[in-house]
Amino acid sequence: SASAAPLTVTILHTDDLHGHVDPVKVGQGTYGGYARQTALVRRYAAQDPNPLVLSGGDTFQGTLYYNVYQGLADVLFMNYQGYQAMAVGNHEFDNGPEALARFAQKAQFPLLASNLDLSAEPLLRDLVKPYAVLSVGGQKVGVIGAVTPDLPLISSPGPNVKMVELAQSLNASVKALQGQGIDKIILVSHLGYTLEQEVAKTVPGIDVIVGGHSHTLLGTFDNKDFPPSEGPYPTIVQNPDGNRTLLVAAWEWGKVLGRLKVTFNDAGAVESYEGQPIVVSADLPEDPTARRMIDTLAVPIAALRQQVVGNTTGGLNGAREIVRRRESTMANVLADAALDAAQKAGATIAFVNGGGVRSSIDAGPITFEEAITVQPFGNTLTVLDLTGAEIRQALEHGVATWSENKGQFLHVSRGMSYTFDPTRPAGSRVTAVTLNGQPLDDAKTYTVAMNTFTAQGGDGFDVFKNAKGRRIDTGTLDIDILVNYLRARPTTDAQNEGRIVIQNEP
Ligand code: ATP
Ligand code: ZN
Repeated sequence: SASAAPLTVTILHTDDLHGHVDPVKVGQGTYGGYARQTALVRRYAAQDPNPLVLSGGDTFQGTLYYNVYQGLADVLFMNYQGYQAMAVGNHEFDNGPEALARFAQKAQFPLLASNLDLSAEPLLRDLVKPYAVLSVGGQKVGVIGAVTPDLPLISSPGPNVKMVELAQSLNASVKALQGQGIDKIILVSHLGYTLEQEVAKTVPGIDVIVGGHSHTLLGTFDNKDFPPSEGPYPTIVQNPDGNRTLLVAAWEWGKVLGRLKVTFNDAGAVESYEGQPIVVSADLPEDPTARRMIDTLAVPIAALRQQVVGNTTGGLNGAREIVRRRESTMANVLADAALDAAQKAGATIAFVNGGGVRSSIDAGPITFEEAITVQPFGNTLTVLDLTGAEIRQALEHGVATWSENKGQFLHVSRGMSYTFDPTRPAGSRVTAVTLNGQPLDDAKTYTVAMNTFTAQGGDGFDVFKNAKGRRIDTGTLDIDILVNYLRARPTTDAQNEGRIVIQNEP
């Protein structure tokens, strides 16, 4: 091996920050926020041996800061904290290649995705690279990027961004680095914990995977506010070289900061390691410069965010593990609001993709900020004529991946109901569909409202993309649809009323 000598580095990492500039409530506590995160990163970067500050991607999407700044607020903090590389996440494409290019131009660190072919995308081909070589402690460390192969299905990269087969692109990047005599290799990965374990097992040459996308909490925490950890930190996987690959992740929203000390031996393999995510708790000091930056950035959104647009007595549940698997009160409200907005266009049904419901709303007054946290994408509403058979096919697609909590799970507006059996083979799970008490007629045409993302085939809805019937983009924004609906009633309360019935739930 070309390695000079053993090397100890300290990887400080985040992923899935999703625009969470401000701290968030978890259980009884408050966690995260860029002011505290900045203080921590800068402190450890100054005291730990050979710091490497890395991101597992998905900086974009999730709060009003994103809607107003499209990542250009976050990149200021990333530069100031000294990030050295970032994986491109799927959400980095939510506003198309243009917004990612603006972010990348400002970033003082490389953006990485080895499994994208950007040669046909002039906005990005010079800004996003497969890998980078960093200089740490007088030695070279290779950092490769990867993004979920689902990207074209779940975001908006446009026609010029092509996926490359994952294993092939990772192997090519590892070989290119090894060809330069670099054998300490880190993958910054927006692939999710499951696929990351698979990569660790099958792709030789990768020593550490800094993960993202699945919002995975790893480590041991004695904290009642936190959900159960999903595995050890680091998770150790035997790699094809006979060495160990260390897998780490830092949950979501900056609530923890990953911190892993790794010693490589003189053959470039992991010799020892030590680490545990740091809880970014409210008793930690804030970085004063970061605090001033936040105060300035918050000015244009302060009035907007606090505006009360409605009220709910019982709260509306749009939690990720609910809304991607079963009927949800938040999704019912969104579907009904979409139906109302599309009634002029003759719609009698509205669909909402579960993954498009980004949050719950808690009981009490509803602020504009809460509403936009639920509907941040800036989708317009499309109205589409579909046959009963196409509708049935769409519902089948929605439950085809039921056990995986994917975004394609479909919610329906009032008056519609469907039953499915997840124990049956995918493609024949939907056992009944009714509209206002009548069975759906396969041969009849129905006018259906849905967001433009799904209408254009997002979440794998080829049936919507390929539908030949009348298609109208109403131009009405999802956030306006929700806000109008909330404003129109003194209180918005919803029930789970059997719109979606699960038979034989395992
Ligand atoms: P992460 O934040 O780590 O990417 P996530 O929940 O956002 O986690 P996924 O589980 O892949 O990531 O969710 C992406 C889902 O978001 C898609 O499956 C889709 O349902 C939804 N989505 C993405 N873009 C849009 C959009 N423009 N409109 C509506 N829904 C969207
Ligand atoms: Zn993601």
